[in-house]
Formats: sequence, C-alpha cells, structure tokens
Amino acid sequence: MKVLVPVKRVIDYNVKVRVKPDGSGVETQNVKMSMNPFDEISVEEAVRMKEAGVVDEVIAVSIGPQQAQETIRTALAMGADRGILVKTDDNLEPLAVAKCLKALADKEEPGMLIVGKQAIDDDSNQTGQMTAALLGWAQATFASVIKVDGDHAQVTREVDGGLETIKVKLPVVVTSDLRLNEPRYASLPNIMKAKKKPIDVTSPEELGVDPAPRLQVLNVAEPPKRAGGTKVEDVAQLVDKLMNEAKVI
Ligand code: AMP
Repeated sequence: MKVLVPVKRVIDYNVKVRVKPDGSGVETQNVKMSMNPFDEISVEEAVRMKEAGVVDEVIAVSIGPQQAQETIRTALAMGADRGILVKTDDNLEPLAVAKCLKALADKEEPGMLIVGKQAIDDDSNQTGQMTAALLGWAQATFASVIKVDGDHAQVTREVDGGLETIKVKLPVVVTSDLRLNEPRYASLPNIMKAKKKPIDVTSPEELGVDPAPRLQVLNVAEPPKRAGGTKVEDVAQLVDKLMNEAKVI
C-alpha cells in the first residue's frame, strides 16, 4: 500500500508573526519557514507504518513555491521515499489544495492519505475533509491512533468528550492530531540520503486545477495588546476591582 502525505511549508511555529503595515497579510520575507507541525506527525506515522511492513511507499507532496521542495526534502530525510512538488506561486486555498490532492490520488492510487488536521498559518482545518469528499473516500479526522488491518483501518479519534474508535474501509483520508506520535529528528546520514531521492514537479494547471482564490482577505490585524496585571492586597480589594473596574460582578 502507498501512503500520500501532504506537507505544507508554513512560518515556523517559533516565529513571532508580524502583520504587514497595510493589513494585507503577514510578513513572510526573511522569516524562517518549516514543515507544518501536524504534517511532521503525518510523515512520522507513515514512516512507522512502512517500518512495520504495513506500507510499501511513502510519498510526500507539497503545493507551493520552489522553496517548498525544502519541506519535501525534510520529509524525505525523515524516511519518505519520494516527493511531488505541485509548483505554484499562488497561495492556494484548501479547496484548490484538495483538488490537487484528489488529482494526485487518482494517479497514484494510495490506500491512505494522512493529512494534517490543520495548517498553523490559515488554521482552516478543511483540506482533509474536502479531499475525502472529492475522492468519495472514507474519512477519519483528528486521529491519535491508526491501525491498518487488511482492507480496513481502525482509527482512534480525539473528540470533545474523550476518544472515539472507528473502523473505516480503505482507501481513507486520515487527519493527524497532536497525540498521534512524536516525530523524529532527521539524522545527518538520512539528510544526505534524502538529497538523492526523487522529487517530481508538476503544477495545479497540469493537474487540471484552477488556483484562483474564492475568498478575498479584507483585513489582517494584530490581536489587541494585553494590559498588564496588578497584584491586589486582599479579597476585599479584588471584589472592589471586579465590581468597579472590570465591572464583571
Ligand atoms: P488546512 O485545511 O489549511 O488547515 O490544512 C490542513 C492540512 O492540509 C495541512 O496540515 C496539510 O497536510 C494539508 N495542506 C494544506 N495546504 C497544503 C499545501 N499547500 N501543501 C501541502 N499540504 C497542504
């Protein structure tokens, strides 16, 4: 079985994101970019499945500019076998990404797509679900355990009240949640080996996908600055402040 893992190039989670002065978006120039953290978890899971003999090939896909190839290289260094770069300088929305993934899934015929539950830049949490719908496949979202058993998979999902375990028929789109695993660091020898692994390059147009956005960003603003706190002397002062300053009681 093949597994397809989309890996998005996003602003590194340690970077303090700055809004552009004209409010049209966030600064991405001279900012450290990395693989979306949920996608690292997906790559780790796919590689573990390969190590366990359940999966034959792990394919990492990124949709983005030429530099997204670095993100694919990271996945290859973690253990993915080959990459596909869907090259575009447009910022594709989840529906267009899902259409690209559907086109690739139609071609590659994987048994499973492991998509991140959300990208930390747009926080959409849409791509996996949309891809499953476009493909007409089962979906198992927010996975914290995945067990493949013949032509089915048993997936434990993180739901509001706790954990839910479902059985789904393959092929399936799974979205990875934080507790699925702890991704490995790529070792230096594996980083060197990854340089020789193949990366095919295609484009949304070649896959028959229109990359035009359907949403218009009206404004991006920083969250309001938090006011500093104060220490109160006693409960009476706390109650007084809550009543007269915060006016919450
Ligand atoms: P989102 O729906 O935007 O929150 O993204 C959810 C997941 O979809 C991400 O964690 C990735 O696995 C995948 N994804 C979204 N955009 C891209 C992209 N441009 N390239 C590769 N994967 C993507």
